[in-house]
Amino acid sequence: MWTLPVPELSARTVYLTCISMSRPKAKTRLEALEEEVVNAADRFETAAVAAALHTLADLKAKPTDKADRAELKKNYTQRMSRKGHPGREEYDKLKAAAPLGRCPLCGHRDVETLDHQLPKTAYPLLSVVPFNLVPACRSCNTVKGETAPASAGEQTLHPYFDDVGKEQWLFARVHELAPAAVEFYVKPLAGWDTILTTRVHGHFRIFGLASLYGSQAAREMSSLRYILKRKAPSMVGDHLRDEAAGLAEEDPNLWRAVMYQALAGSSWYIDGGFALE
Ligand SMILES: [Zn+2]
Repeated sequence: MWTLPVPELSARTVYLTCISMSRPKAKTRLEALEEEVVNAADRFETAAVAAALHTLADLKAKPTDKADRAELKKNYTQRMSRKGHPGREEYDKLKAAAPLGRCPLCGHRDVETLDHQLPKTAYPLLSVVPFNLVPACRSCNTVKGETAPASAGEQTLHPYFDDVGKEQWLFARVHELAPAAVEFYVKPLAGWDTILTTRVHGHFRIFGLASLYGSQAAREMSSLRYILKRKAPSMVGDHLRDEAAGLAEEDPNLWRAVMYQALAGSSWYIDGGFALE
């Protein structure tokens, strides 16, 4: 749900780099597919800009030849993501694009791999297309797996092309029962249309973000209890508000910023709820 700059790598260059050292038989086969890959990459970009990746379903059937499909997939698994292979430099460049190494899909865990926005098994022509490769943590990559959108609303957010804005859309409510807990939810912004709203809710659900943030918050609140117990009661609210403001300056949709904001807004928590176990 976090935006990244669109990679400046050309689909043709990356493709040619990946196939450059392949064995002669595979290379001949892959060279014959170059234009088809470049055309698919162009279509991907146009569709992604229009938030219409579901309209690319016909690419699933291409190419029809099984051996062609297998070689295209190997471009990623054997010629791009493997260390020491020709495309690895491009792989590393794409991976390094996420600020602070934070996964743009969950906004929390560390980037460890690249995720195919449209899966390589279903869309072998897109297996090494830079716009289709997004830095991601292992969990987000696994959760998404081989799923592909069948409708506009089913598209998970694409960090290069979708921008949900800088305003706050992530919120949390405090469960005012011991021990305190927070529950995260999405509040759509006024500028989001129906499809974007459906997509953001879907993204939040598919990647399990309420659960991820909720369990992280529970851990943080456990150590926060220790800190707050040592503060004068009149300072508890100020501490929470300062933390919330500082974190929101970095990004108002960080779960920690949202957690502190919610806690600062709960007089039950400030007036002693924080200490209850
Ligand atoms: Zn992630």
